[in-house]
Amino acid sequence: MIKVLHVSSECYPAAKAGGMGDVVGAVPIYLPKQGVEASVIIPKYGLPWFKSQKYQKVKDGGIHIGGLSLNYTVQKVKNNNLGYPLYVIDMPGLFDRPSIYLDTNGEGYHDEPVRNIAFQTIVCEWLLEQNVYDIVHCHDHMTGMIPFFLKYGTRYKPISDIPTMFTIHNGMYHGSFPWDIGMLLPKFDFAHRGILDWDGRLNSLATAIKCADKVNTVSPNYMEEIMQTPDSFRYLYMSEGHKCMGILNGVDTNLWNPKTDKYLDNKMEGDNLTGFKATNKKSLLSTYKLKSRRPLIGFIGRMAHQKGADLLAKAIEENLEVSKSFCAIILGSGDSYVENELSLLAEKYPGYVHTIIAYNESIARSLYAGCDYMIMPSRFEPCGLNQLFSYRYGTIPIASPVGGLVDTVIDIDNKKGTGILLNEVSQSGISEAISRSCELYQKKTKFNRLRRHIIDLDYSWDQSASIYASIYRQLLKL
Ligand code: ADP
Repeated sequence: MIKVLHVSSECYPAAKAGGMGDVVGAVPIYLPKQGVEASVIIPKYGLPWFKSQKYQKVKDGGIHIGGLSLNYTVQKVKNNNLGYPLYVIDMPGLFDRPSIYLDTNGEGYHDEPVRNIAFQTIVCEWLLEQNVYDIVHCHDHMTGMIPFFLKYGTRYKPISDIPTMFTIHNGMYHGSFPWDIGMLLPKFDFAHRGILDWDGRLNSLATAIKCADKVNTVSPNYMEEIMQTPDSFRYLYMSEGHKCMGILNGVDTNLWNPKTDKYLDNKMEGDNLTGFKATNKKSLLSTYKLKSRRPLIGFIGRMAHQKGADLLAKAIEENLEVSKSFCAIILGSGDSYVENELSLLAEKYPGYVHTIIAYNESIARSLYAGCDYMIMPSRFEPCGLNQLFSYRYGTIPIASPVGGLVDTVIDIDNKKGTGILLNEVSQSGISEAISRSCELYQKKTKFNRLRRHIIDLDYSWDQSASIYASIYRQLLKL
């Protein structure tokens, strides 16, 4: 068995802020079938999940970072239900906070660089002591310096030949800091400092792209898009293109299963999709006091520019002004301006729009189960998981024609259609797609046939896990 360590700042069910948490918590379950034994290491946050677990200490030590001496322990979570070994790094004061990334004002932690560099340094210390992993697989910029530390870190020479893979879950976040932060880094071969630099700043994403042995995005189309996006990173992707690829995300089909989903009061019985959808929709309509006999459109996501929630607010209003032919439930948090817009929309259209400003897994599951449609008006989307989760619950995606959404949603104008694709990412594009969804809802036979079709689509992790495994073998020249 090949032994791989996944290094991440998120891993479901321990810590999840978005799709990366889903992915890191799922891939290791599917890798053993492919001859790969995968473990995961994350920081130990002050989240409820961590308080409910038992731990076994596997290492303690200290690091010096920017004049500070910090003690840590690496602990193994004693939980056989996860399906893979999960290690956490405990560093009181730095990681044990009630949120993964944000302070009480909803801003990124002011000491983000210290947290990220401390985490990555400790991972390298642990790798040095263990020296049992064949591959180190890092996720997003928070772990992007590890390939550099391993290759050029003075202390890590004995493990400098461990191959590294780097997965980009979102290429918009770079982990870019002024060069003063460089003094926090563990000692490295100064001749290679240029690798850390992008546009005169330390850049974790650029460092990983330059230094990792393989780099992938979470869908093939997103990789193509970033290679064509006219910004300075495009040249970086092009020059490192020989080691870059897109590997589509999948779904943990045990966790996202309408028949067994532990979050749902009304699970699917046998193949009774119609009954499942009707019961869950009824429950949503009564909980949120929404009108019946209309299509119910859900939105789940970060209220960030990327997700297009600002455009969605305007498009919903535009449609409701013309005809009150649908209802919408919006779940998300993020940009306070957008949160406000969507809350005001709900106040303006009671009975038609309900907005929930929160991050809540249980409500999210009830929306996947009970909505007729799930809307994703993203401006860009590295893969998008909501559309794949929606398929599992017979919920039809309405999605932008970008990134991984193009790889996974086929417009209903085609014979094998699986959802509605916006003709463009704009208020009018969303508005038109909503109108199309209302028309489709009236054509009951077509609507029901589509639901039946999408619930049987296979986006399980098996296929992508086998691609990851074959890349690991390539890296090890097996
Ligand atoms: P992201 O860019 O945020 O990672 P993805 O589509 O890849 O987007 O994954 C989003 C994941 O986060 C899905 O599991 C989705 O259900 C979940 N999610 C997003 N916002 C919320 C929320 N407010 N409450 C609960 N789950 C959420």
